[in-house]
Amino acid sequence: MKYYSTKSKVTNGFKDGVSFATAALTGLAPDGGLFVPAEIPRYPKAVEMSFPQMAFHDIAVETIMPFVDGEIPVSILEDIVQSAFNFSAPLVIVGDRLVLELFHGPTAAFKDFGARFMARAFSFLRRGEDNPLNILVATSGDTGGAVADGFFGVEGISVTVLYPKGRVSPLQERQIAGLGGNIAAIAVEGSFDDCQRLVKAAFADEGLKKRMVLSSANSINVARLIPQAVYYATAAAEVLKRSTEVGWDWQPNSRVSFCVPSGNFGNLTAGLYAYTMGAPISRFIAATNVNKTVPEYLQTSIYTPRESQKTLSTAMDVGDPSNFDRILANWSLNTLRKFITGVWVSDEDTKKAIADVHEKYGYFLDPHTAVGWAGLDLLNIRSVMELYPYAVLATAHPAKFAEIVEPLTGSVPVPTIIQNAMLRKPCAKTIPADLNALMDVI
Ligand SMILES: *Cc1c(COP(=O)(O)O)cnc(C)c1O
Repeated sequence: MKYYSTKSKVTNGFKDGVSFATAALTGLAPDGGLFVPAEIPRYPKAVEMSFPQMAFHDIAVETIMPFVDGEIPVSILEDIVQSAFNFSAPLVIVGDRLVLELFHGPTAAFKDFGARFMARAFSFLRRGEDNPLNILVATSGDTGGAVADGFFGVEGISVTVLYPKGRVSPLQERQIAGLGGNIAAIAVEGSFDDCQRLVKAAFADEGLKKRMVLSSANSINVARLIPQAVYYATAAAEVLKRSTEVGWDWQPNSRVSFCVPSGNFGNLTAGLYAYTMGAPISRFIAATNVNKTVPEYLQTSIYTPRESQKTLSTAMDVGDPSNFDRILANWSLNTLRKFITGVWVSDEDTKKAIADVHEKYGYFLDPHTAVGWAGLDLLNIRSVMELYPYAVLATAHPAKFAEIVEPLTGSVPVPTIIQNAMLRKPCAKTIPADLNALMDVI
């Protein structure tokens, strides 16, 4: 598969394609665009027909393979998938809807899928290289933890995570700075924007480039995006399988729809890949918080990027989602409208959903997942399990945001994975928000 920059598509009609390895290890295209696959592959018919019988890891391999064809051999891909996705993604029934729990990985959020695959893919793509690869990443909290954990112990790669001192939660700090080994943490006296500015400045520094091989691992990396198509395909297959098992009155053409709580729109992009490949999916709801640039665009055809506004679903506070360019590189607005409905949700409705769902079903939603749940309510969408079930993607474990959830529900059970992370001792170097200070420590 060749990859092209979203910008080069406009300027030179997709001329200079690069390999998966280049797209993944470079991160951002040299012209500032995002890498997109030349085409979205289709599952072979035989695979499509046997979806309900296939195991999670087999669907994962079939989904990722065409994107890395000729660069990662199937047997290696099988190993990568086994070791990256060593936790489950259960589909649970809550009321008359399904919830796809994507928070059973080591940092209790769906970003583990992308980060863990990316780490292992990087390690393979750089096999035989003498110089270690240095990954520099800025985080406001969640991404840093997933990247740190994903790369922890991966040979030949070291990671430096910059985070704003005192502005991440105690759990996030332990996920970023509590691992040690090949993961270094730097607490910057400043904001997330300062951290991002420092990382950009470090990448632009010629001296540093001579001294070490640098790469980024931020959320626009195509190696983080593609593995996220996997859980859409496996969940869609699971719905077909269950519909025969529990005696649902399943119709051959009935398919699951997904409601995706969205911020930077990487998750939804991956869903559209799975859909286009031929996974048995009906449609999508793109739910945002008050940062409603995309739902508004779907409604009015006018794209108005804005400064992001702070909400309860912080990981979705994005006013100008960068992955949306990726979506527009593949689909026109009119086509998108056929299978995506946008909706935006206020903090008030988000809280109401957390409280209501707990009261009615005893189920805990985190604030991001609650945006998805409330979005379906606002659109008045009825999910009929036997005919057209709706699945809300649960993007984080509620215990990760206990300070928001618990006042609405009472105490949230804390999974062992989070309990163990809380026992770690965070160890970070503190620096002022200054490039020279950063250069001194890396
Ligand atoms: C990153 C994140 C999102 C948003 O995902 P995008 O791919 O940026 O749209 C939603 N929920 C949680 C918990 C996240 O960490």
